[in-house]
Formats: sequence, C-alpha cells, structure tokens
Amino acid sequence: MQNTTITLASGHEMPLIGLGTWRLSGQTCEASVESALAMGYRHIDTAEMYGNHQEIGKVLKETGYATGDKREDLFLTSKIWQDHLEPNTVLRQCGKALKELQVDYLDLLLIHWPSDTVPVGETLTAFAELVKEEKVRSIGVSNFIRRRVREAAKASKLPLSINQVECHPYLNQNPLIEVCREQGLELTAYSPLGRGKLLGDPAIAQIAEKTGRDPAQVVLRWQVQRGVVVIPKASSEDHLKTNFDIWGWELSDTDMDRLTAIEDRHRERFLDAGLTDFSEDD
Ligand code: NAP
Repeated sequence: MQNTTITLASGHEMPLIGLGTWRLSGQTCEASVESALAMGYRHIDTAEMYGNHQEIGKVLKETGYATGDKREDLFLTSKIWQDHLEPNTVLRQCGKALKELQVDYLDLLLIHWPSDTVPVGETLTAFAELVKEEKVRSIGVSNFIRRRVREAAKASKLPLSINQVECHPYLNQNPLIEVCREQGLELTAYSPLGRGKLLGDPAIAQIAEKTGRDPAQVVLRWQVQRGVVVIPKASSEDHLKTNFDIWGWELSDTDMDRLTAIEDRHRERFLDAGLTDFSEDD
C-alpha cells in the first residue's frame, strides 16, 4: 500500500492530498474546510492573497485543530505575496497569518510568486529566521521555473522542501520535477483538475470508465502515485469526497504512462496571470 504522505527535505511529513482554498471565502470556505476535516483531509492550502485566513482560522479553532495533538495532525500551508517579499515585510506578514489562522506555526511557508526586485536569498533568509523561531516548519517556493529553483536552492540557508506549480495531464511538468528532485524539492500540483476543464478529455474518460473511477480520481491518483502532492479545490460535499477517495487502489503502469503522454497531444497552461515569465520552461 502506498504511503499517503511524503517526507520533505526539512524532515517533516506532508500529506499527498490537501484541500485547495483559492476562491473559497465566507460561509462556503468555512463549510468546505469543516467538511474536509471531518472526512479526513489533514492538509489545507491557503495564501495571504486568498483573503480567507480568518475563515480557516475560525474553523480550526472550533474543531480543535488550532492547537495540541490535533494541530500536530494537520499540515497547514500559506504563502507570502509577491509585493511582500522584503525581509521585514515577510516577518510581519507571517505574524499576521499566524494570528488570523489562530495557530502558533505554519507547516509550510512559500514564496507565492518570484520577485524580480527582491533577491530570493534575502526573502529566504527571513524564512530561515521564521523556522528558527519555530513559527514555520518547512519552506519553499511557488511558480518557480527550473532556473529559479536552482537559484533559490543555492541562495537558501535551509533546504527548500516544495515548489508549488500548475500541474495536470495537460502540463505534466516532468522536466521541472526532475530539477526539483535534483535540488531536494518535492512538487505540489496546483489546479490538479485543470480547474475542472480537462476532466472530459477522452483518454482520461476512457481510463476512468475502464477502472470504474471518476475522472477526477484518475488524475489525482496519477499524481500521488508518482509522488506529486495534489491540492484540489472543492466546495461541494460530493467533490470533496470523490477527490479524497484515491487510496487503496492503483493505476496500471500502462495507464500511468498514457496519462503522462496526454501532454504530447494537448498541452495547456490554464493560469498565466503575467506575474512571472514561464516561457523559459515552456
Ligand atoms: P482545481 O482544483 O484544479 O479545480 C477546482 C474546480 O474543480 C472547482 O470548480 C471545483 O468545483 C471543481 N471540482 C473539484 N472536484 C471535482 C470533481 N471531483 N469533479 C468535477 N469537478 C470538480 O483548481 P484550482 O482551484 O485552481 O487549484 C487548486 C488549488 O491550488 C487552489 O485552490 C489553491 O489552493 C492552489 N493554487 C495555487 C496557485 C499558486 O499560484 N500557488 C495558483 C492556483 C491555485 P466545486 O468548487 O464546485 O466543487
């Protein structure tokens, strides 16, 4: 049976599946996080930019996951926005995040998007300070192309644990995964369902029919089976449940290879907000 967690370069364990919370706010956010925790999700992905720290914090407090043994069972990720990467701002924003989330520490803190103005080593030195102060357990980056991963790993005083990037069958990110692993980082796949837009793909649908699984389960299982962390966002109970049911069964090597090969006929990046230049990797 496959492990449901991976060990990060920091030495900490990270659940291979988590709940993505971008665009979840207010009552919907609270309900989704509460349902996910009740179903067994133990990993939540947020960011200061999502504006939902307070809602998540309220649920963590009410369900007992903000402190003690239950907090130890939970893996909580947040990210520092691109305009906040100057060291003193990082320290301030992390303090704000901890307060809003009502927790003493974050399991993982990421640079949300790379900066062309603040040297990455300066930001990561502030991240190392937060680790020393036990406010953060593992550190990493997001939306970093191969060159930037190498630069960041070189500039960081502490090992980097994660690069969180868009990744799904239309963007398998194999070359980036190779560089991340060379540098000791694991990959978290954001938009792992292609924001719902690739679930009707014929190859995915065929594998789903053959295995008796849902298309979303097929694409999520493909990722965790190759050691990639997934953080699907879901607001309906049905979706939350379906997405979490990816353990205790396997995809064959042939189906794994077919899913990896989909990109050869259809390659698509769904999120390019102009916040960084992906063209070197594309
Ligand atoms: P996603 O998880 O690929 O897709 C979410 C969409 O798929 C929602 O519309 C959801 O609908 C639907 N869905 C969920 N489960 C489904 C299922 N089983 N069957 C059919 N549809 C399903 O997209 P995402 O929200 O862009 O990415 C996930 C998370 O990654 C984000 O929430 C965020 O935490 C993170 N992220 C990070 C970055 C970054 O820059 N680091 C960028 C983008 C995203 P319902 O809501 O109706 O259930």
